[in-house]
Amino acid sequence: MTDTYVCPYCGATEHREYRVRLILLTCPECGENGRFLNEELVEVLDEIPDDELPEEWSELPADQRLHRAMERGLVDSDRLQLL
Ligand SMILES: [Zn+2]
Repeated sequence: MTDTYVCPYCGATEHREYRVRLILLTCPECGENGRFLNEELVEVLDEIPDDELPEEWSELPADQRLHRAMERGLVDSDRLQLL
């Protein structure tokens, strides 16, 4: 089974044979070195209602969004445990 990981800066995707929350990678598309999030985590972040999002949300790369969301308890920890 292959999992999909998403560049926190440009949204480019990479596929890996293993399943973790995130992978460290230099993006072949944008050249940034970042933490690619598992696509399922990106979906969890997308489900947070707009009115609960921190103000600076739109300026944060996806990996920072995950960190912020976990800090504030915006994501259901049961879903994170699936990974
Ligand atoms: Zn990228």
